[in-house]
Amino acid sequence: MDVECLQCGNCREVCPVFGVLRYEGASTRGRLLQVSPFVGWISTPESIRKNIFQCTRCLACRDVCPVPVDYPRILNMVRENILRSGKGYEKHYRIIQNRIVHRNPYGEKWNLPKVVEGEGKGGIRYFPGCTSVFRMNSVFESTIILLKRMYKKIELISDCCKVTEENESMVTSCAGCYSSFKYKGVDITHTAQIFEERMDEFDIVSFPGTITYHDPCHLGRHANLYDAPREILSQFDFVEMEHYRENSLCCGAGGGVKSAFPELALSMAKRRVKEAKDARAEFIVTPCPFCARNLRDGGGNVLDLSELLVMAMQE
Ligand code: SF4
Ligand code: SF4
Repeated sequence: MDVECLQCGNCREVCPVFGVLRYEGASTRGRLLQVSPFVGWISTPESIRKNIFQCTRCLACRDVCPVPVDYPRILNMVRENILRSGKGYEKHYRIIQNRIVHRNPYGEKWNLPKVVEGEGKGGIRYFPGCTSVFRMNSVFESTIILLKRMYKKIELISDCCKVTEENESMVTSCAGCYSSFKYKGVDITHTAQIFEERMDEFDIVSFPGTITYHDPCHLGRHANLYDAPREILSQFDFVEMEHYRENSLCCGAGGGVKSAFPELALSMAKRRVKEAKDARAEFIVTPCPFCARNLRDGGGNVLDLSELLVMAMQE
């Protein structure tokens, strides 16, 4: 494969993994140099295998590349080849297996009610995603509180394969699920969008503290959704961090990094949490349970957007 990299190094400067590890092989440019001979066939030494899987797929490098090199596609291809050859990381194989057997990467048993009755009008289909149900349950519960205010009937969907087959419109509170479904052509809305449209139904009073916003890569660079959450947060005491919107800094969890390299994910999270502190924010708000979890692990005072709204509502 012809990888037409100009070696300009723009990508290296924005790569959150390079930002922590500080060696060329852990940057986009370094990875491209390593993968070009390996695309299409497998003979990957351990050091290269590690560099290939130590990328969060945050897409920051894509947006600064002048050529542009199609790095995300190249990376996916190389990762797929390594996984198919059986030389991937055990943690990633377990996730793949759990997805096939249990329909979620955690290997947990789905036990959601099919329908929840609310006090509002009409109905909605809600796909909470695995992290909010199995690891960040208050995100799920807060979202349900808000949806109950808005709708009479909330249909809960847990099977992502069924979603793609049926392709009926629905909402999700997870940034990763949102971008995955969007790539697959599903009619999907993020809860941040419907909350923003119907903020007047929540009787917001106030929230005690300065808030900053962490753009999940899957909502921002992957799906170009930046404004709706900021519209909501503009009603509170809100400040931006040094890196925001298209230029945002990844939390460090994505792309399978948190599962196979938890210490690296933690170091990236700490860097992002420090940015929030430097901006004098007391809380980081994000509409992604996976980002929220990693940023909390990194010591951040983090709220999901739904948690913030529930806390700020009049009882
Ligand atoms: S996608 Fe993100 S983590 Fe991966 S190489 Fe590009 S900037 Fe670095
Ligand atoms: S920004 Fe693009 S052209 Fe420049 S070094 Fe990175 S991949 Fe190569």
